[in-house]
Amino acid sequence: MQTIQLLNMGSHSSQKNQFMPNPIKSVRGTRDLLPPETETWNVVESAVRALFRLYNFQEIRTPILEDLQLFQRSVGEETDIVSKEMFAWEDRARAQSEKGQWLALRPENTAGVVRAYIEHKMWERPGLQRVYYIGPQFRRERPQRGRYRQFYQIGAEVIGPSSAGSESPSVDAEVLEMLASLLDKLGIQGWTLELNSVGCAGDRLRYNEALQKALKDVVHKMCADCQRRAVTNPLRVLDCKVPEDQPIIEKLPRMSDYLDEPCRAHFAEVQKILTAVGVPFKLNNRLVRGLDYYTRTAFEFTHGALGAQNAVLGGGRYDGLSESLGGPQAPGIGFAIGEDRLVMTLQESSGTAARPADVYIAPLGAGMNLAAAQLARELRRQGVIVTLGDETFKLKKSLETASKTSARFALIVGENEVNSGQFALKNLGTGEQVSVAREGIAAKVK
Ligand code: ATP
Ligand code: MG
Repeated sequence: MQTIQLLNMGSHSSQKNQFMPNPIKSVRGTRDLLPPETETWNVVESAVRALFRLYNFQEIRTPILEDLQLFQRSVGEETDIVSKEMFAWEDRARAQSEKGQWLALRPENTAGVVRAYIEHKMWERPGLQRVYYIGPQFRRERPQRGRYRQFYQIGAEVIGPSSAGSESPSVDAEVLEMLASLLDKLGIQGWTLELNSVGCAGDRLRYNEALQKALKDVVHKMCADCQRRAVTNPLRVLDCKVPEDQPIIEKLPRMSDYLDEPCRAHFAEVQKILTAVGVPFKLNNRLVRGLDYYTRTAFEFTHGALGAQNAVLGGGRYDGLSESLGGPQAPGIGFAIGEDRLVMTLQESSGTAARPADVYIAPLGAGMNLAAAQLARELRRQGVIVTLGDETFKLKKSLETASKTSARFALIVGENEVNSGQFALKNLGTGEQVSVAREGIAAKVK
């Protein structure tokens, strides 16, 4: 074993810091979520759980660590995610001689859900599987506003055999309507639903051919990325954001002209239901999404407040994914919300703040911590948010602490109060102070 040596043992100029190592920082592209911001995350997650239950979704939790092949076979080797953004390594077993296994931190969660669906034979369960997840995902991207290397996604999947109705356009519309309801419920205004159909495998083959043919004559005028994509994955050219390439892309063949009749009818029905339930959408025939497994309906919700990284969420149908992972035929549809971006949108539009403590209990004098603890327990049982002070604090310091930490009331617990059962309750907003009986405190501060 090698001994670990601490480098940079501190500056020589300061006696005090002589043995202080440099502080360790969070890893590039990762961040700490601190209070009160975490409160907004909790608000979002509670709203999600409550709303998804109304659509009869239940939670699934899959591992963060997966076999690298899972993503190579589902997301696709030629995608940016797998070719450039994966955190993957060969995990050697106990001895060097033993065969290692390539592991990856999941870059998305649909592959894991479908793997679990296959592994646990979930198709044997009745009806369609309707599951949701909330958790961290990892991609080695250049960190910037709204783009991190560890980020969080909230997603859901509806998957099952065709006989259970998994291919029905009504499932697509239901999922989209649920998303619209979620954004509305969170109070997010000004979102746009962009919708496209990327067709089935056959359509895409024909479209890819047409695209490749059209690109042949123009690709030399396009950016380096597009020149590469034209060979490896022509569909991705439609995703290009380089301004000079836009007029060229506008003239390329359109997916909508290559849909076969069943795909065209499917897409038309999705739109019809959305219109009937009053969910507005915008057709975007260039929306192709960054993962290979999508078929038919593909969508994104965007929001202006997000700037360059304006996609709050994306998703679509993946009718062949289960088979490509060695499972049975199991068409499905799902989405992933970028929770970091969702929270950002919320902060921008309403700036949801954490509910402050209802009451700061200020024990006054030696031995009063005990009575304060009893009272805190009583109040918390009645749903009051309590911050507990300390008997060593002078009254002035207690009141200052209560104000600084934004408690709404301060409750003074001294010997006289405990004996008489009447407590001094100070409203820290108005400065008004009243005397309240023990039983009346909860009602007064809630
Ligand atoms: P983008 O075009 O922004 O790179 P994407 O197409 O790679 O997005 P998806 O794989 O569809 O993203 O993931 C769904 C959602 O997850 C995105 O709409 C976005 O909100 C969020 N997301 C993706 N990558 C990141 C990241 N690195 N940091 C934060 N959020 C992300
Ligand atoms: Mg991306």
